[in-house]
Amino acid sequence: MVTIALVQGNITEQHVDAIVNAANSSLLGGGGVDGAIHRAGGPEILAACRALRASHYGKGLPTGKAVATTAGRLPARWVIHTVGPRFTHDEDRSELLASCYRESLRAADELGARTVAFPAISTGIYGWPIDDGARIAVETVREARTSVEEVRFVLFDQRAYEAFAAQVR
Ligand code: ADP
Repeated sequence: MVTIALVQGNITEQHVDAIVNAANSSLLGGGGVDGAIHRAGGPEILAACRALRASHYGKGLPTGKAVATTAGRLPARWVIHTVGPRFTHDEDRSELLASCYRESLRAADELGARTVAFPAISTGIYGWPIDDGARIAVETVREARTSVEEVRFVLFDQRAYEAFAAQVR
C-alpha cells in the first residue's frame, strides 16, 4: 500500500524520485506550480517538453494524461507533467482529475520511481475547490495499484494543507 505524507512547502524543493507538475496542455510552461518548476529546474525541462510536442503530442497533452521529462536542476530525477481539468459548475470533471493522479502514478511506475510528490492539481488557476480536490486526490491515490511507495502531497499554503489533513485523518 502507498504511504501518504503531507508537507506544507514548495514542490520544487522536494528530494523525491519524481515531482508532478500541474501543467497546461501546451506543455510550454504557465503560471503557478508550472512556472515555479520551469524556473527552478532550468531550460532542460522546457527543451524536453518541446521535444514531446514535436514528437508524440503535436496537439498538446490531453487533460487527465501524464508524461515524464527530466527534472533538470531540481533535486528530483523526473518531472511528470499532467493536465488537470478546469473546474466548472456545468459538468462533473472529477473523473478527469482522478485520472491525473492515476496516470501520473502509472508514469512513475514506468520510470521505476518509488517516491512521488504531487501538488494539489487544478486547485489554483483552474479553480477546483480545495476540499473536493483534496478528497479526490487522497481517494484516488489510496485506491491506485502502483509500485510507488510514498506519495507526498506538497501543499503550498495552510488552507490546502488542512484540506488534505482532513482527508488522511
Ligand atoms: P492548476 O492550473 O492545475 O490549478 P496551479 O499551479 O495554479 O495549477 O495550482 C495548483 C496548486 O499548486 C494550488 O493549490 C497552488 O497553490 C499550488 N502551488 C503553486 N505553486 C506551488 C509550489 N511551488 N509548490 C507546491 N504547490 C504550489
